[in-house]
Amino acid sequence: MTDGTHYLLIVLMVMVTTTSCAQTAAECPPEDGLAVQVLGSGGPIADDGRASSGYVVWVDGQSRVLIDAGGGTFLRFGEAGADFKQLDFVGLSHLHTDHSADFPALLKSGYFSGRKRPLTIAGPGAGGPFPGLHAWLTSMLDSGTGAFGYLSGYLDGSGGLAKLEPVEISRDTSEPLTVFGGESSDVTVAALPVPHGIVPALGFRVRVRDVTIVFASDQNGSDPAFADFAGGATALVMHMPIPEGATGGALQLHAPPGRIGEIAADASVATLILSHFMARSLRALEANVSVVAESYDGRIVVAEDLACIALNN
Ligand SMILES: [Zn+2]
Repeated sequence: MTDGTHYLLIVLMVMVTTTSCAQTAAECPPEDGLAVQVLGSGGPIADDGRASSGYVVWVDGQSRVLIDAGGGTFLRFGEAGADFKQLDFVGLSHLHTDHSADFPALLKSGYFSGRKRPLTIAGPGAGGPFPGLHAWLTSMLDSGTGAFGYLSGYLDGSGGLAKLEPVEISRDTSEPLTVFGGESSDVTVAALPVPHGIVPALGFRVRVRDVTIVFASDQNGSDPAFADFAGGATALVMHMPIPEGATGGALQLHAPPGRIGEIAADASVATLILSHFMARSLRALEANVSVVAESYDGRIVVAEDLACIALNN
């Protein structure tokens, strides 16, 4: 390593430390304005001391949007002070357990909130061994056959439960699709399929006033359309479960740090939030973040559970 390279690495490590400290300066929920709060910054293996994937978007003190509900996010949802009654939209990026397994538990918790208002939920259509969102919900909530059939009111609004209004997005969709929003809401959400091996998966773009937050989900970063989808976002949340230099099947599922940096740079996002770590990517976290920063020179936030990132344009 040359002296120059060594100096660069030190600078990058200081930047990473500084930016990851900056996230703790914000407190969720902010009284007014926008923030994204990380419910879970971990991956699918219970080896990282973190909850799996989940994020809340706060708007003027209200928990309006939930993206993903992986294992452990049930606990973090409560710790964050989020309220099921306030949710306008739930997006499940895909139906791997580390993105969806705590959703039925959140539904049960929501039963006690007294919510009656319907709730829009968007997720992928069927593909490979994975059911589509409708079939997935039915497999849990059907009154006759569902594993949690006692919560079947979420399917039809009976028993005083809030009816879920599922929106399924086929993996053949090639253009961003508006899945929530309109004249009656200041929140708009669009979805776009993202490449995650054989798993049907979605990225979400949440727009509130003049702030745009894009959730990249798990993806291998091979679709150039995604950088357009994320173009100019106030914040882009990207998942970094694998280290630079990973090989084989991992690259079918996930983008390595170098690709993440290129996407963030192509999309010219103001803040890049790195999340969804596993023990294998945490071991060399500083080095992996430095690789991201080789391509992307904007603000980088390294997520931790319950981190609160205030976002204002
Ligand atoms: Zn995952």
